[in-house]
Amino acid sequence: MLTQAPKGTKDIFGAEMPLWQQTEALMRKICGDFGIEEIRTPIFEHTELFLRSVGDTTDIVQKEMYTFNDKAGRSITLRPESTAGVARAYIEHGMFNDAQPTKLFYIAPTFRYENTQAGRQRQFHQFGIEMFGSYSPALDAEVISVAAHLMESLGVKDIELRINSLGGPECRKRYNQKLKEFIGKNIDGLCKECKSRYEKNPLRVLDCKEEGCKRIIADAPSVIDCLGPECREHFEKLQEILTNMGIKFVVDPMIVRGLDYYTRTVFEFVTTSIGAQSTVCGGGRYDNLIEQCGGPKTGAVGFGLGMERLLLTLQAQNGEAQYKPYRDIFIGSIGQKGFVKSQAITYELRKQGIKAECDTVGRSVKAQMKYANKIGAAYSMIIGDDEIEKDCANLKNMAEGESKEIKLSLLAEEIKKDLAK
Ligand code: ATP
Ligand code: MG
Repeated sequence: MLTQAPKGTKDIFGAEMPLWQQTEALMRKICGDFGIEEIRTPIFEHTELFLRSVGDTTDIVQKEMYTFNDKAGRSITLRPESTAGVARAYIEHGMFNDAQPTKLFYIAPTFRYENTQAGRQRQFHQFGIEMFGSYSPALDAEVISVAAHLMESLGVKDIELRINSLGGPECRKRYNQKLKEFIGKNIDGLCKECKSRYEKNPLRVLDCKEEGCKRIIADAPSVIDCLGPECREHFEKLQEILTNMGIKFVVDPMIVRGLDYYTRTVFEFVTTSIGAQSTVCGGGRYDNLIEQCGGPKTGAVGFGLGMERLLLTLQAQNGEAQYKPYRDIFIGSIGQKGFVKSQAITYELRKQGIKAECDTVGRSVKAQMKYANKIGAAYSMIIGDDEIEKDCANLKNMAEGESKEIKLSLLAEEIKKDLAK
């Protein structure tokens, strides 16, 4: 127990870290280019917020939330997704008074009590975008274009954008009725859970992951056939804009998403590279959520993208990242004076932006040189009484094995010159 992280969690470090950092840096860069600002909301919210927004018949709320009472007896939940918290912040800080749309992004740890498997953890990370303040399909297209551009920039292969429209409340009512009729005829073949979903929220049956249910659902009526004229036009306009942007997509009427707040557009980016947990990114429009949470009626669109699944996809397609440690220079030492001086020189170099390392363990000279190799030092130098007295030392190029004498007081400049080559 003491030496094992809780089930479904992972330490991210070492060889994996550069890929995380590069991917996150790219996300930040892309958001900057799209005029999307970062928001950091708390990792826990009042439980009520998720019941209201995510929906109390969804798997997330029914089975997956980390909910507990704090010491004052408030019901608190670790966020199982971030849209609700961002929507809450949008209302709380009156962002609807700013020039609209408000465009926000986050990279955030997210918590769901799930059966763990590859690409399905209990603590995972989502990169997400939320845009508020427009009902136009142009905003849907802009949100989708962020994810499309990210996938393209990362060179993700075998990924498909699937879009659908769930329509507004009226269309949904019509569809629910049709769907209930269809499910009613096939109820015997469905899993136990779907039998209860059928009563409470038939749309959730389309989201079931049981093979038997999936087979039946494949013949379910299409929600697109139930769209009213306005929702149909909205969906068609979205397709026209995406096509003009050069973003490829397929229309997939079986995409419904696992959260209740979606209206009209829903979409997923799905890959064939990582097995069963194949949805890397999912999102859609949620025009009623802000009002439902106590704000003014506001059009909104967003997506959540699983960082772990994205990185798994990249690793499956490009191979595991090779981890190579690197330092510009290792400042070794011999004797007590040299030891102290090497610390001071290293500090000076670091302040000048040079990746310098020294011995802080008290190793022998031989062991220090072994260490310099291990950490990938490009140059090395040993400081002792002589070097301090003469203000001069040998700078060794580790790859070529050549050395040259250098004035210690000019070390930073020399190193910078050499590294520039
Ligand atoms: P799934 O159908 O795979 O359970 P979901 O519909 O529950 O996904 P969303 O709530 O839409 O997922 O979350 C958006 C994205 O977050 C998913 O597409 C996925 O990449 C990622 N994600 C969701 N749950 C997990 C998890 N438990 N572990 C890792 N990533 C996850
Ligand atoms: Mg899920």
